[in-house]
Amino acid sequence: MKAKISSLIRPLVRDLNPYVPGEQPKIKGLIKLNTNENPYPPSPRVLNAIKAGVDARLRLYPNPTAQALRERLAKLHRCKSENIIIGNGSDELLALAVRCFVEPANQGNASRMPNPNGKTDARTLVQYFTPSYSLYPVLAETHGARCNPVPLKSDFDFPSLSELRRNRKWNFSAALTFVTTPNAPSGRAYSLRQLDDLCRNQRGVVVLDEAYVDFAEKNAMRLALAHPHVLVARTFSKAYSLCFQRVGYFVGHAGLIGALDKIRDSYNVNGLGQIAALATLEDLPFYHANFKKIIAAREKLSEDLRHLGFQVLPSQTNFILARPPKFSAEEWLHKLRERKVLIRWFKYPEVRDYLRVTIGTPAETGALCKAVRQILDKSR
Ligand code: PMP
Repeated sequence: MKAKISSLIRPLVRDLNPYVPGEQPKIKGLIKLNTNENPYPPSPRVLNAIKAGVDARLRLYPNPTAQALRERLAKLHRCKSENIIIGNGSDELLALAVRCFVEPANQGNASRMPNPNGKTDARTLVQYFTPSYSLYPVLAETHGARCNPVPLKSDFDFPSLSELRRNRKWNFSAALTFVTTPNAPSGRAYSLRQLDDLCRNQRGVVVLDEAYVDFAEKNAMRLALAHPHVLVARTFSKAYSLCFQRVGYFVGHAGLIGALDKIRDSYNVNGLGQIAALATLEDLPFYHANFKKIIAAREKLSEDLRHLGFQVLPSQTNFILARPPKFSAEEWLHKLRERKVLIRWFKYPEVRDYLRVTIGTPAETGALCKAVRQILDKSR
């Protein structure tokens, strides 16, 4: 029976390496610094709006296009509601972008097979830097598209345009290019100039994934409104403490947004999520105060870990990437977990020597530093 069941599943899906989300532990009392969630709850106004939305209306479908939210966001970003699409988290929109702009290649599991004629059809190509968001290759593979992962420099900066041209792996015609900016998991920001240069030279669609941009000094929203082939992805998950509600959005040319809109599920954004996001936009100063606290905590934690012998990369996000002393990063992951502190470690070669730590409250990051000190003391 086992064999029969697997024969019912497309080979592409059978062989797929799925995305691995960070652990959501059931154990109480763990300090959770592993999934880049905001340590502060949504504002009281947002919580009240959600509570007030829980009534007999739950039997009705929500607004199919999240119209009110799109109009409010259009005002915020000085564009029109036709320039905005809302998703069930920005993850949904990243997946829609692959389905909308990239042709599947013609074989079962094309993305991992060598190309038969040695030439890559750029229309089947999903391109991204490594390391960056580990969901992109999964989305490409799920669609039967080809992946083009191109390494960042050793300090996680962009290669320059001439380096990209020289290296030849980069494809300026790729159907879809994802750029995580500021980058995850490095935390590094890129300048508007670098992003603009790259966008100007790409012939396919470019998605600038700004999931963490509220913790950065600069953003690239203007590129989505200046270049017809550029989309900016934002989310309410991280900076606006709404992971649970799953609301994200793209901003870009009405032609691209309209195409994405054609293939989205009719009611892709749940009603309470729409209510929560709208209420959030009415209470932005509350969130701006949180950003300041998180940025201050980030700088303090970076400093404290440097004193403890960690090499901490500069971050423009709500997490840091740090190379630990004494033990391997994987060992640190386990040692910290034994002391009830959860952080993230990725196996990928470019970052396997690092730990990614989400910025928590000062009490949480203080507990992390205490655990680090204990581990180092014990090893003396
Ligand atoms: N982009 C990046 C770079 C992320 O790290 C995440 C969160 N894992 C997302 C997008 C998706 O966020 P959401 O679906 O919660 O909006």
